[in-house]
Amino acid sequence: MALTSTSVKLVDPRDLLEMLRQHPLATPFNLALYSEQHGRNGLLDAIHTVCSPLEGESLCTPECQRSWEESISQALLANQPVVHSCSQGFLCFIIPLPENDNLPDCLIGGGVFERNITNRAIEKAKQPATDDLTIKPAQRPQLISMSEAESMTEEISRALPRLLDQKVHTLGLSRTTQRLEAVQKLARELADCEESEQAVAVVSEALVVLFNLPKVLIVLQKPGHSMTIHSTLGLDPETFQLNQKQLADYFTKFSGHPEILSGGELSAILPGLETRTANLFPLGENGSQLGAIAILDVDLHSRDQALIELLVNRLTSRLESLKTAEGHRLERQFSSRLVSMISSLALVDNRQELYQQILEMSSELLTTTSGSLMLLNETDGTLKIMAAKGMTSSLAKTMSVAFGEGISGRVAKSGFPMLVNDIERDHRVATKNRPRFKTKSFLSLPLEVDDLLIGVLNLADKSNGANFTEADLNLIVAFTNHAVLMIDRAAALEKAGMFEQLAITDPLTGLYNRRFLKDRLQEEFSRSQRQKQSFCIIMADLDSFKVYNDICGHLAGDNALRKAADLMQRSARDMDIVTRYGGEEFCLILPGTGKKESVFVGERIRRAIEAESFPGENHLPRGRLTVSIGVATFPADGMTADELIHAADLALYQAKALGRNRLVLYEPALESQGLLSN
Ligand code: GH3
Ligand code: MG
Ligand code: MG
Repeated sequence: MALTSTSVKLVDPRDLLEMLRQHPLATPFNLALYSEQHGRNGLLDAIHTVCSPLEGESLCTPECQRSWEESISQALLANQPVVHSCSQGFLCFIIPLPENDNLPDCLIGGGVFERNITNRAIEKAKQPATDDLTIKPAQRPQLISMSEAESMTEEISRALPRLLDQKVHTLGLSRTTQRLEAVQKLARELADCEESEQAVAVVSEALVVLFNLPKVLIVLQKPGHSMTIHSTLGLDPETFQLNQKQLADYFTKFSGHPEILSGGELSAILPGLETRTANLFPLGENGSQLGAIAILDVDLHSRDQALIELLVNRLTSRLESLKTAEGHRLERQFSSRLVSMISSLALVDNRQELYQQILEMSSELLTTTSGSLMLLNETDGTLKIMAAKGMTSSLAKTMSVAFGEGISGRVAKSGFPMLVNDIERDHRVATKNRPRFKTKSFLSLPLEVDDLLIGVLNLADKSNGANFTEADLNLIVAFTNHAVLMIDRAAALEKAGMFEQLAITDPLTGLYNRRFLKDRLQEEFSRSQRQKQSFCIIMADLDSFKVYNDICGHLAGDNALRKAADLMQRSARDMDIVTRYGGEEFCLILPGTGKKESVFVGERIRRAIEAESFPGENHLPRGRLTVSIGVATFPADGMTADELIHAADLALYQAKALGRNRLVLYEPALESQGLLSN
């Protein structure tokens, strides 16, 4: 077999196998390639391939394996084909392949019965089809004699150099050209993918279909999450897991180029996964790791390796650019949310609520479930919790921290924010995590006005369990830079007793705000009492508005609020006073109006909103953006502003409880239903 090594260098073993499978002499046999370096598992795989068409009740015995091993060593040693008959009566052959880096050691064949041998398998094969028949008629092996097998093997062995020299190249070349064209097409398709999921799906499908790969595994990082197994093809995902720490360790040492891992190396990262070898292609560039694609248990030909690398690189750049675009989108969304948050902070009319709102908004921005806002008490120099989330307010009120002590005290003193991933391991803090916190990561940042410290904001427990990031820090700093001005302004106004002089309109909707409502309500009480007239208030709350925001975004939410406000204003009468009571809640005063008439106005509002089309509302639970309404009347339902608002609120909650998009009039029986407490 005088083959020059250069002539076979470009041969893809799988092309060779495919050619041989079509070769008339080889057709009776099942074929596989085997290299001693594939080890015992590789041998079992190869034997399995050769015997698998006879699957069902396995006929192979440890003896079979031993005779395979013996024949293989014999064939390789002598560099001659060997034919043997296995203990089950199958004829098996081993043909050594020309020595070459690219080719396995030998071709093995089997699955053909030796003629004139009677054994259990052959008896079964001859029987008519019954339920327990393990060999289906179409799979019944052929019968040939030992000498026929020997001469066929000889001929295959002789034909090999010619196949390797010419045909297999032609086949390889045309396949590569085909694949290259397909890869180019896929690259264009990738450029059109608008979502990373879709881009990954395009590539994983291509790997399986185009490169005919048996097992592919993809790990991927989604923004704000740790890496997870994204998809598995040809593998049972139940049988293994991902060891995050091992993967992270691996990536810290990772060269950034495709690598080949042994089965052992891979199973350290993916415990339970049994593989022989893995080609690992990183997803990510410039040190950022988005994930990796692992191709298991094939010896990739260098041409395929290069094509796959090309495809994976395209995927990487698409994922990177989608990530950047997503970053920009979030930034835009964030700045519009920031504007709406800051403007609603301007509506808050007492300090306590301002603190609570700032904390709530910070939590919303970073999706945290606990936190506290501490302010510096100038008289005794301690930090006091002014607002808390995730702990009881009685506990919060008792807690004060000395300047310079504890985490918050030190952040206050240093004037630098502290971002900690693991409270127990970070050397700056290294304290035992308190049981009320679910995660070990937190963020603590100083609040300053004109370089003067006024307090500290602490945030912990991201709702997805992830660690805080630099990006979180930047985001919250942008928000608190505005929020501290509100704190400062509120303090100044309170000092000057000027809170009431704050604006009376809501910047988002242009309606009167809650502060104005309270004043107006007071006036209405005195006037109605004097004139012995009745009046009504209507509480209106948009239905499932959180869902609307979640689906359509805050910008659309704000637009919907404006539209709803406008509809309310237009559906009310000239003398009615329409105010924005809170987020998506409105309160109307209907002077000199009795119950019946108020139902008329309220229903007109409800129908107007129901009939209006709001973009994206079809995704809401009931398919439309609607409003629920509660109505209370003076003097029947309340004698003070608080009583009347409470009564209207109860009626509103009843409207929600009854299924929303309806109007409910207050009645005393609602008091006993405990609607407001849950
Ligand atoms: P329900 O039918 O029970 O009233 O459900 P809901 O989702 O409307 O009630 P919830 O009170 O839980 O949510 C109100 C949501 O309104 C929360 C917040 O996302 C949204 N929201 C409040 N104020 C504003 C605002 O100024 N702009 C925008 N876009 N959304 C707001
Ligand atoms: Mg509400
Ligand atoms: Mg609502």
